[in-house]
Amino acid sequence: MASNTVYKEPAPKVDRENPLESMMSRFNVAADILGLDDATYNVLKAADKQVIVHIPVTMDNGQVRVFEGYRVVHNTVLGPSKGGIRYDKNVHLDEVKALAAWMTWKCAVVDLPYGGAKGGIICDPTTMSAGEIERLTRAYTLALKDVFGPDRDIPAPDMGTGPREMAWLMDEFSKTVGATTPAVVTGKPLVMGGSLGRTEATGRGVMVSALAAMKKLGMDPTQSSAAVQGFGNVGSWAAKLLCEQGVKIKAVSDVSGAYWNENGINIDEAIAYKNAHKGRLDGFEGAVLMDNADDLLTLPVDVLVPAAVEDVITEHNAHNIKAKLIVEGANGPTSASADPIINEKGIMVVPDILANSGGVTVSYFEWVQNRQGFKWTEEMVTERADRIMSDAFEKVYATSQKYNIPMRIAAYVVAIDKVAQTYKFRGSF
Ligand code: GLU
Repeated sequence: MASNTVYKEPAPKVDRENPLESMMSRFNVAADILGLDDATYNVLKAADKQVIVHIPVTMDNGQVRVFEGYRVVHNTVLGPSKGGIRYDKNVHLDEVKALAAWMTWKCAVVDLPYGGAKGGIICDPTTMSAGEIERLTRAYTLALKDVFGPDRDIPAPDMGTGPREMAWLMDEFSKTVGATTPAVVTGKPLVMGGSLGRTEATGRGVMVSALAAMKKLGMDPTQSSAAVQGFGNVGSWAAKLLCEQGVKIKAVSDVSGAYWNENGINIDEAIAYKNAHKGRLDGFEGAVLMDNADDLLTLPVDVLVPAAVEDVITEHNAHNIKAKLIVEGANGPTSASADPIINEKGIMVVPDILANSGGVTVSYFEWVQNRQGFKWTEEMVTERADRIMSDAFEKVYATSQKYNIPMRIAAYVVAIDKVAQTYKFRGSF
C-alpha cells in the first residue's frame, strides 16, 4: 500500500441489515407506544455529535498508514457519554452510530447517570504488532482529547480492545492534561484503577438475566441446555457462569468454527485451551467441530446466547430457531426483520440493551471508585451489579406485561421514557 493512504478494508460482501436501521425500527415502535412528542423524537433520532478522524501511524516497516476512526456521542442528557471503542476491519459509521444509540438506551435501562457514545477504528488488530496498536491508540486519543474527559465522554473496551488499550488511552490523555486521570476511561488493568469484577461483568450480567428469564418461563437451569455463539470475553464468561448454575452448554463457537458436545462441554477446559492457543478453539478436543458454524443458532437447545457480532439472527434463520429463550450478549445480534418471526414463535428475548448491560454497569462502578479514590471489594461489585441487573430485568418484564409487548420493545420503552422525562425536567429545548 502506498504511504499516506487512508486505510479502509474493502466493504465486506455480506447481505447484512444496516444496524442503524435495525435500531431505528425498534426505536420507532417504542416511541409510538409512548406517544413521544416530535421534538424529543427528532432530538433522539440523531446523534449529538459525530467525529471522524484520520490517524497517521508509522508502521513497523517504516511506512505511514492513515487509519480512519470515529467517535459518535449519541446523547448526554442523562450524564457524560459512555461507550466502548471497537477495533475491527468491518467498522463503519452507521454501525458506530447504532452502537452509540444503544449505549444511551442501555445506560438508561439500568439507570446509570450516563449518556451513550461509541468509537471505532477501521483496522485489523490481528495483523498488527503491539507497537503499531499502541501508536494507533495514542494517536486516536490525542485526536479526540477534546471529546474525552471524566465529565464529558468516557470510553471503554469493545471488540478488538481490552485493558491494554485502555491503559495507553489513560496514559496519553493524562499527559495531555498534565494530571493522572484514571476516570477518563474504564476497563483498565486492575493495578491502575481498574475494578475487580469488570472483566467478567458483561458475561455475569448475561447469566443473571438468563436466570431471571428462565424463572419467568418456569425453566429449571439444571435441566436446561444452551448454545453460546462467540467465545471472546462475553461469550466465554457467560458460558462459564451459566455452566456453574447447572446449565449444560452443548455448543460454543468462535472464528475457528462451532463445537458441539451432546453431554455438555467442559467450559473451564475450553477456556484453558483457548488461552493456550492464541485465543482460539481450533483443535479443541472436548467437542466435535460442526460442519457449518451458523448451525449453532438453530440447534435443539433451550437457551441461545448470541455473544459475537451484529445481525446473525435474521429473517433467513429465525424460523429454524429451537431455543425457548434468547439472551443477547452481543450488541445487535438480531436484525429487525427477525423480530416478528421470533415473536410469532413465542420465544422470549432478553435484548442486548438489557442482557449485556452488566459491562457498562461495572464500568460505572470503576468510574465511581476512581473518583472516590477508594477501591471496592469484589463482593461489593458483584452484589451491586447483580441487584442492578435483576431490578432492570423486573422493570422491563413488568413493562412488557403492562403493554403486552415483547421484552425488546419494553426495554426501549423503559429507556426512552427515562430520557424523555429528563428532557422535560431539564427543559433544554
Ligand atoms: N463496550 C461495552 C458495551 O457495549 C462496554 C461499554 C462501557 O463499559 O462503557 O456495553
